[in-house]
Amino acid sequence: MTEATPAQPELDRDPAIGRVVLTEEQLARRIAELGEQLTADYAGRPPLLVCVLRGAYVFLTDLARHIDLPVEIDFIAVSSYGATTRTSGVVRLVKDLDVDLTGRDVVLVEDIVDTGLTLRYLRRSLEARNPASLEVCALLARESADLESLGVRYVGFTVPGDFVIGYGLDVAERYRNLRYLAVYEPQDGDPAI
Ligand code: 5GP
Repeated sequence: MTEATPAQPELDRDPAIGRVVLTEEQLARRIAELGEQLTADYAGRPPLLVCVLRGAYVFLTDLARHIDLPVEIDFIAVSSYGATTRTSGVVRLVKDLDVDLTGRDVVLVEDIVDTGLTLRYLRRSLEARNPASLEVCALLARESADLESLGVRYVGFTVPGDFVIGYGLDVAERYRNLRYLAVYEPQDGDPAI
């Protein structure tokens, strides 16, 4: 019998990559469902997908390919964490959109809603540009996040408090290319803790 070869054998050996939270298959299945839901909800009015860099870039590429509508895509970048696993409490716009949002149906594509600080900032900024509608699609949300008051319509998975990495999510720019989502296990001497 042949054993399955790990897709990323080098990365798999890294002790900072802890328990697997979501496998590649679980992510793929749920993202296909979200794509179908968006396809149905936006029939006849293809949305502009706004990807929040950098964490949402992997989610965006998979999600967009499961939407059967002529969507458009633009990118916005904010920063609130710097190179640590703790929020700085200040959101900074790092890169703005190129597209005019006036009259557009916009779906903001986020990696994870934690305290909601980033989302509140982005919502305020984007709503001021007079889109026809603005909805949020987050791959992950903390169990503690108040999704109703934050106006998050689409969520892939809710996760507990552990800091997670992979599938676009980083620590100090690393681990974004992990195919699955795992708990981050800080190691001695780690500058990111
Ligand atoms: P919030 O502003 O909602 O507190 O935080 C949202 C942002 O913080 C996310 O877009 C993400 O960049 C970062 N973040 C929050 N929790 C995690 C986590 O568990 N892992 C990683 N890699 N980033 C996180």
